[in-house]
Amino acid sequence: MFLPQEIIRAKRDGKVLSQQQIDYFVAGISDNSITESQISAFAMAVFFQGMTAAERVALTIAMRDSGDVMDWRSLNLPGPIVDKHSTGGVGDVVSLMLGPIVAACGGYVPMISGRGLGHTGGTLDKLEAIPGYQAKPSNELFRRVVQQVGVAIIGQTGRLAPADSRFYATRDITATVESIPLITASILSKKLAAGLDALVLDVKTGNGAMMTVHSQALELAQSLVTVANDAGVKTSAVLTDMNEVLAYSAGNSIEVHEAIRFLCGQQQAPRLRQVTLRLAAEMLYLSGLADSLAAAQQRAVQALDSGKAAELFARMVAALDGPTDILTSYAQQLPLAPIARPVFTDAVGYISGVDTRALGLAVVALGGGRRTSADVLDYGVGLDQVLGSGAQVDQHTPLATVYARTEQQWQQAAEVVRTSFTISANSGPARPVIYEQVTSD
Ligand code: URA
Repeated sequence: MFLPQEIIRAKRDGKVLSQQQIDYFVAGISDNSITESQISAFAMAVFFQGMTAAERVALTIAMRDSGDVMDWRSLNLPGPIVDKHSTGGVGDVVSLMLGPIVAACGGYVPMISGRGLGHTGGTLDKLEAIPGYQAKPSNELFRRVVQQVGVAIIGQTGRLAPADSRFYATRDITATVESIPLITASILSKKLAAGLDALVLDVKTGNGAMMTVHSQALELAQSLVTVANDAGVKTSAVLTDMNEVLAYSAGNSIEVHEAIRFLCGQQQAPRLRQVTLRLAAEMLYLSGLADSLAAAQQRAVQALDSGKAAELFARMVAALDGPTDILTSYAQQLPLAPIARPVFTDAVGYISGVDTRALGLAVVALGGGRRTSADVLDYGVGLDQVLGSGAQVDQHTPLATVYARTEQQWQQAAEVVRTSFTISANSGPARPVIYEQVTSD
């Protein structure tokens, strides 16, 4: 028999907790026998004292098992169950293309996505911009779409890692979100509840990322990879750049437009293409669908460039009750806000820096993101044709086009856009979009 305060005291004093102590604490979070102040003291103790890899694994598994854990074996699927998680960014619309690409190569992708957090966008919000799209389908429909199409991207339903929901809500209001052991367990408990064979993590670093500092992002990537592999799921991570908007656009409907144009080969932001194909290659290689990363990359390119991935995206949308002709009707189905004008600068030179977080917050201020969890989104607002580092500008080059609902909102967003770009006389050295890979060996 344990006492919560003794577990908190042990962690406060830098001791290593046993699996039984961690199981007990997580069970108490789930059944409400542990109070919010106890959760908060525990989180602060972990924040300062950290956790060993074994403790992180125990916390992850206990939180994963606090709710339903999916099991795909009864479907006898002829390919591996594989997914990706991104730590989040601005213009990170990768999932919408990645899921269909991997499905086109024989993977099965049950992707459970989240809402926007702070200045970052959320895949779930983008999909909910599609009229009729069932982002919270029944378990049966979710399984059927994964089986028949190969990919279903949905939001968290019912009882997936409920201990994390309560734990995270307390961390959010007690300055304990920024703890690598707690972030690791929080992310992985939800992802591992999807019953995966393999998982690839896109850990973003830069001024628009959750982890702005490279060394911290690397530490998080290493923690995620170690813990997920120790918990029995083949996992690797790629550290990618978030010092500028990844896609050309940022917003909800507007990113869906871009994803469709990308899948149909009509417009592909180069950095977005690089990240998407690299993550696809990692997923195919890790899950055994290709013998090498190079072969995996080739298969991913083929799936994208042949239009197969576009076809699967359309089938997924239709199977989840969205429009049956999304690839051709997206502009009508997902209308953009009416006040749409480009933003110009007085400066002449090259873009040497982008305040990515400020651009993400501009989308939130337009109504495309939430300030409180109860906020209702305006899917039509956002930014498009956002320039990136190294672009040459003068008074005639738009920095971005702002889509706003009112003139006042447009003016406010335009001012943020103008002040978010640093323009210098020379273009600095090009920054890579993929920094490094983190594997378990
Ligand atoms: N996202 C999560 O799901 N959990 C965290 O702790 C941080 C970001």
